[in-house]
Amino acid sequence: MMKIYDKSICEHEAGEIYMARGGDGRDLLFFAGAFLPLDHASAELLRSELPWTAPSRVLSLPRTFGTGDRLGIAGPGHVRCFRSADAAPVLAQQSVRELTFTGRTFADVLDAATFAVFREGFRRPWGFDGDHLKTSGEIESALRSGCTMITIDCSEKIGRGGEPSAEQRALYLGRRFEAEGCALEFGAEGLGRCTAVYGAAIEFICGAYEKYLAGGAADFEISIDETGTPTTPLEHFFVASELRRRGVRFQTLAPRFGGEFQKGVDYRGSLSDFEAELQIHAAVARSFGYKLSIHSGSDKLSIFPMIARHTQGRFHVKTSGTSWLEAMRLAAMMEPALYRRIHALALSEFGEAKKHYHVSADLSKIPEPAALDDAELSSLLDMDDARQLIHIAYGPILKSEYRESLYSLWREHEEDYFALLAGHLGRHLRLLGIG
Ligand SMILES: [Zn+2]
Repeated sequence: MMKIYDKSICEHEAGEIYMARGGDGRDLLFFAGAFLPLDHASAELLRSELPWTAPSRVLSLPRTFGTGDRLGIAGPGHVRCFRSADAAPVLAQQSVRELTFTGRTFADVLDAATFAVFREGFRRPWGFDGDHLKTSGEIESALRSGCTMITIDCSEKIGRGGEPSAEQRALYLGRRFEAEGCALEFGAEGLGRCTAVYGAAIEFICGAYEKYLAGGAADFEISIDETGTPTTPLEHFFVASELRRRGVRFQTLAPRFGGEFQKGVDYRGSLSDFEAELQIHAAVARSFGYKLSIHSGSDKLSIFPMIARHTQGRFHVKTSGTSWLEAMRLAAMMEPALYRRIHALALSEFGEAKKHYHVSADLSKIPEPAALDDAELSSLLDMDDARQLIHIAYGPILKSEYRESLYSLWREHEEDYFALLAGHLGRHLRLLGIG
């Protein structure tokens, strides 16, 4: 029996177009009187015929929110969260690290978002972020795949700069700048630190901008967050000022805030220190005319109200792992035995997986899944240490023998998955004042 997705139905000169689920559980596109598989060709067809199924440049809009979908199945759930949200979603958003671990391509990520948008009849603008790109090759591949936004990751250039140039000394040394009343003053030590920490990153950004983005190929986000070195407001100001002086136009910048932005858990650190710093970062961003971007935004619930307030409702927030964790929560709820085997796999892979992510999970604090009843198994996904364990183990889990069982469980219970996403991401959006 075929089931038509009602919200997908639309009129076209080729006749009615819609998406349907076939009797074998596979989704199909009905176009010009024929059923087509949901492959890259049909995604391209949709994007060329129905403009709202193609991504667009949304980063300059006041509020944007990245919903990474590592599995290619969360899209309809994400779309539903944004149907009435006061923000534009970046539905397709993956880093090269995620693509490597999941064995996907930028094209796969985009196609999954296109099908989700079409299936749900979502006609609002949405974006496509080539996230955390570190090399020319990665930027080229993201742009070729149609990314509407490039996030350049400078982490490998941080701390590799040198002394200030004569020009920089003349421009900054001993001078006092203001961002909305916040004073920023460059002493010799402060300026020396700015160029030592960010000099090479600024050169890297300028080079990439001139080569790939000056012509306006995509929105541009500067990311200096994935490093151990927090960005002081003075350093933030310096980076922005240098980029402006060099003619680099960008929509968002992600500083590395103080405290800890670990994956999959709430903010750790002093909330009052964070708030004081955030105020100045937000003022600096506003005074240069771009938005602050908050990375590793998954589950940072305690700081969202401050972000909404101090950015005056102009921000970009990225999440990704939290949607994966909800998928694993579903697995724990629906197939406890399978979840227990996967949990054991994650434990055995933890040492390797944590080389790639910033987490501090203490495995000794995680209860033995064997000691938990089936009904309480999914409570593991409410515990920080277990969340981080599962969060970073997605690569080995998705390459394991359990892959097919997981995907068929997610397909079978997809409405339950979308409901979990609505609850969890909905909490994010409400605290940001956009849900
Ligand atoms: Zn980041």
